[in-house]
Formats: sequence, structure tokens, C-alpha cells
Amino acid sequence: MFLCYKYYYVFGSFFDLYVIIKKKMENSVKLRVGFMVKEINKGLKLEILPNGSMVEVLEQNMGNARFIWNNLLGMYFNLYLLFNFHGYPLCPNIRNFNAMLKMLKQENAFLYGGESTSQQQVFRDLNKAFTKFFKEGAGYPRFKSKKNPKQSFRIQKNGNNIRITNRCIRLAKLGYVHYRTSTEYKKLLKTSKINNVTIKRENGKYYAIVNITTTVEELEKTGKSIGIDLGLKNLATLSNGQEITNLDLKREDKMIQKYQKKLSRQKYMSKNYQKTLKKYYKWTNRKNNKIQNAYHQLSKYLITQYDIIAMENLNIKGMFKNKKWAPKLQKISLYKLLNMIKYKAEWYGKTFIQVNRFYPSTKTCNTCGYKNKNITLKTRQWTCPICKTKHHRDTNAAKNILNESIKQNNLIKKE
Ligand SMILES: [Zn+2]
Repeated sequence: MFLCYKYYYVFGSFFDLYVIIKKKMENSVKLRVGFMVKEINKGLKLEILPNGSMVEVLEQNMGNARFIWNNLLGMYFNLYLLFNFHGYPLCPNIRNFNAMLKMLKQENAFLYGGESTSQQQVFRDLNKAFTKFFKEGAGYPRFKSKKNPKQSFRIQKNGNNIRITNRCIRLAKLGYVHYRTSTEYKKLLKTSKINNVTIKRENGKYYAIVNITTTVEELEKTGKSIGIDLGLKNLATLSNGQEITNLDLKREDKMIQKYQKKLSRQKYMSKNYQKTLKKYYKWTNRKNNKIQNAYHQLSKYLITQYDIIAMENLNIKGMFKNKKWAPKLQKISLYKLLNMIKYKAEWYGKTFIQVNRFYPSTKTCNTCGYKNKNITLKTRQWTCPICKTKHHRDTNAAKNILNESIKQNNLIKKE
């Protein structure tokens, strides 16, 4: 008996060693010489197809998340006033919000029927919103409306509560739901660690955004750098003179406007209203997908072609105050593009830099540095009165953005 145990023990430890060595060898094969492999968090957006009863369950949990958010926000404000009245500060923190959630649950028994990790997620998000308000100067957290077409709740991975098979997502306490996605995403889902799942309703469709931890390999260095001037006439102008035109969204915009008008004339939530709403959502989804795809392509192109990418620090709030620019800016969400380039640069080992907001990139001559005060929004081309160089407005700006941001960040320019 003893012997047997000993043999098993020896065998066991050898087997463990074999597994460890095999794993190490597999990893070393993956690592190519000179290329870094990075661990990143990434959200995979999958369209889910809940059946009737599952729709009810999902809607109930979205309602719960909204209910908790609004109530905690109200509770905090009242308590803050009370504490303040007696001369004590009340800091929003996770412990306080957790206690508030427990009180709220005792008063509203229906919350016990919901998914609990998503309820705790609500006060974590609320706490983050308050931190942003107090420390980063963001707006005060707002109440959430039932009428907003975007609703969501997030489930944290805890043991085995989220399971994803080839065809469906199983969520503990809620049930399962079918999904569809590309084979590439299916592979990723199988091989990566899952952190959390956000269930979202957006423009009449349901989605699961699965946050995973995966690895990416850095892209090859090209030794080139580029400056980008984002604009309204063209989506982007590059410092090498290349112009990237805006997307043609005329048809989408026209249809969206048409159905928006129709909706405003129909009775809220009547049968015809819901029919129109479906068509309206179809066109908004089509428009969003078009923008999303174009931005992904453009950012991927820039990241593979260039090592250093320089952009302006967009003052979006300031732009919206400008009456001429505001309606156009709403159509093109420049922030999205900027963020995409930023995180992809980080993933793939490239450098993303931004020039100081107050640098006059349009008005400066990139050859001699002369500042031309006569340039208005309408000026497309101009000649520098000092060095006589002919400038294309946006190309000149892009060149300035590249040179200035390289100077500000103490980098060495690559051709
Ligand atoms: Zn000049």
C-alpha cells in the first residue's frame, strides 16, 4: 500500500514536471525574436438573440441596475446634505454605497431576485463617476432614464457564473442566450480568460460585450512618422499630403431624419410607432456600423504604416460651442477615432503623441515658423509672405502637428 502510494507520488510529480516543460516550450515557440507579446484587455461585442422569456429577464435586470443607480444617487445626495448641515464631510466610497445597497434591498424585496454581481457593479460604476466628478472635473453623475434606447448591466465573472459555449452564453441565475459572431471571435472566446460580460440593449438589439484578457504581438517597426489634422471638410489630412475624405452618410442621415419626423407625429408606443421605431433603429445601426468599420480600417492602416503618430489635442467641448461646427461634429465622432488610434498604438507597440491644445497649427508656416494671422475658416491655400512657400491649409497643419509634438515630447523624428 505504502509502495503504491510512493509510486503514484513519483509518477505524479514527473507528470507535473512534464506538463510544466511542455507549457514552457509552447510559450517559447509563440515568442518570435524581437517582437514583444503583450497582455491586453479587450471587449468582444456579440449580438445575442434572447427568446421571449429571456428578454423579460434581461429587461428586469437592466431595470434593477437603473433603479439601484438612481436610488443610490438620490440617497447619497440627501445624506450629503444632512452630513453637511451638521458640519461633517461625506465621501462617496465603495463601503458607503455597499451599505446603501443593502438598505435598498431590505426595502425593495424584488431586488433579491436579480443577479447580485451586476448589482454590486452599479455602485462601483457610480463610485467611479463620483471620483471623475471630484478629481477630474467631469460632470455630476446623472439619473438614468427608462426612455434611453441604451440600457445595460454588467456581470462580473465569479467562479463558474459565466460560461460560453460554441452557441450560447450561460449566465448563472438568469439562464442561457444564443449568440452569433465570427469564427475569429469564437476562437478568442475559447482560448482567453473572461473577466466580465455587459448585457446591453442598443437601438432595438441586444448585445453581450465580453471582456477578455488576451495577448497581441507588436507590429513591425517601419521607421516612419506621421502627423494628422482632423477636420470637417476632410475626415483627416496627413502630413505627407494624403487626404482621407469623410464617409458618405447622406442616405443614412436622410432616412434617419425621415423616421425621426414620423416618430414625433405618432402616438408614443402605439403599434405604428413601434413599426417606425424598428425602421429608425435599422438606419441608425447601419450608420453606426459604417462609421465603426471605417474608423477601424483607418486606425489599423495608420498603426501598421507608422511608428510615431501625432495628433492634435481635440478640444471637443470648445468645438461644440462654435455654432458653425457643432451640427457637423455630431455626425462625425472624432473622439472615437482618436481613442481607437490611441489604444491600438499601445497594443501594437507604436507611439501616439498629442500636441498642446493651444498650439496654432493652422496659422504657423511649417518651413520658417512665421505666424499668419489672416487665416480664416475659409482659407484653403496660402503663400507664406516670408519664405514664399505655398501651403495647403490642412497639410501644413498636419506637418506642424507632427514637428511640434515631437519637439514637445523630446522624441527623435523618423522619416
Ligand atoms: Zn514661411
